[in-house]
Amino acid sequence: MKLALLGVGNAGTRIVDRLVEAETATGRDFTAGNVLAFDTSSVAFEQTTALSEEQRVLLGETHPSVTQRTDQTDTSETGATPRPGVGGDPDVGAAVATEELPEIRRTLDQIDDTEVDAAMLVAGLGGGTGSGVGSVLLEELNSIYENPVYVLGVLPATTEPDDRIVTAARAIRTVVPSADAVIPVDNEAWRNGADQIADRYEAINDVIATRIVSLFAIGESPSASLSEIRVDPADLRRTLKVGGLASIGQATLDLDTEPAGWRERLRRLFGLGADTSETATGAATVKRLINRALDSKLTLPCDVSSADRVLLILSGPPSNISRKGFETGRYLLEQETGTVEVLAGDEPLTDATTITATVLLSNVTTVSRIEALQERAVATVDESTATVAGDGHTFEFQDDSATGGQVASNGGAVDHGTPPDSGAANPDDTPDSH
Ligand code: GDP
Repeated sequence: MKLALLGVGNAGTRIVDRLVEAETATGRDFTAGNVLAFDTSSVAFEQTTALSEEQRVLLGETHPSVTQRTDQTDTSETGATPRPGVGGDPDVGAAVATEELPEIRRTLDQIDDTEVDAAMLVAGLGGGTGSGVGSVLLEELNSIYENPVYVLGVLPATTEPDDRIVTAARAIRTVVPSADAVIPVDNEAWRNGADQIADRYEAINDVIATRIVSLFAIGESPSASLSEIRVDPADLRRTLKVGGLASIGQATLDLDTEPAGWRERLRRLFGLGADTSETATGAATVKRLINRALDSKLTLPCDVSSADRVLLILSGPPSNISRKGFETGRYLLEQETGTVEVLAGDEPLTDATTITATVLLSNVTTVSRIEALQERAVATVDESTATVAGDGHTFEFQDDSATGGQVASNGGAVDHGTPPDSGAANPDDTPDSH
């Protein structure tokens, strides 16, 4: 599948940079150069290694509320000092993007919509730029692109300040009904006990890059041989067509026991390793691997039985992916997720030294982290309402102006305190393949 990547804010920029790095490392040309990163601060731009200068778009340089205080540390953990760029304020982010829409539109001309199957907007939903600029950009992408627009949105960890939580809770409410599907990545689930979430960014971004490339760059590998059960862009689009929130799980079986670093593991995963094992891996092993993928830490932890549709991809040496294992694994997914809508395919990688099972769960609705996020946002706003009420100011959580003024308009909306009921996100859903 060919995907246009649009990063927004620091998180979006770093993740898109990592995805392009993975594209190069694996030789999977899945963006065909259709990549842009928008930010209001140059901090993350300076950390990029794979994005070209033309792909990095700095916004808000002349806006009075935007500052490039790179001399100050981003203390987003404590919220004690203002952050560079829009200072974490999504209202400022949305205002900057609206003012600079002509420039944004000119830049978007660099993306060739006819060359890609979908666009993916990548942002930290708790960020002023990610949420504010992101909401304006999402609206723009929806109006200019024929293709689906997916959002990969990072959720803040519980250790992050309240304003991040409120911004993310609002962003979820806005983005779910506007995007064709949202793939949240829960920083909390991937924090692994670290006090400073920033210490985990690199590791989390590696996981994101590996999973997104495994799913969306399928069929773009130079070393892929002819597949028996092919997965094509229509399968991915069909799986995500139900809208709402999607989650990705993955498990890998090493056929070669030597330990390896990230790049080496990535190369092996994508069939660029050295040795090939000729031993066919038993059906029971493949089934166990698929089970492990389902039980793995998901990008968004959720009740897997609440998924509407499921897509399974098995990548590895063709001799190791037994047809029987594949079929029993598929049956297992049908049982575990309680859905008959399981699409599955294999990706034969002749030189791979691992077998990987990647599972995409679409339109999951039982998501306790989103509930917790909404609850904390409501509590925060209630508190601030109580504090400022004496001044005659009120701060309504349902006021969506912070995320670009869009109001959740259908069943995909997440009301505060309730999980997303996005079953009706795409009422006109009709199968476009199979
Ligand atoms: P923005 O630039 O104003 O959109 O804000 P940031 O992107 O700096 O932060 C927004 C949210 O994204 C926060 O909740 C951060 O924890 C998270 N975040 C920032 N950078 C990264 C990153 O590189 N990786 C991950 N996983 N999360 C990030």
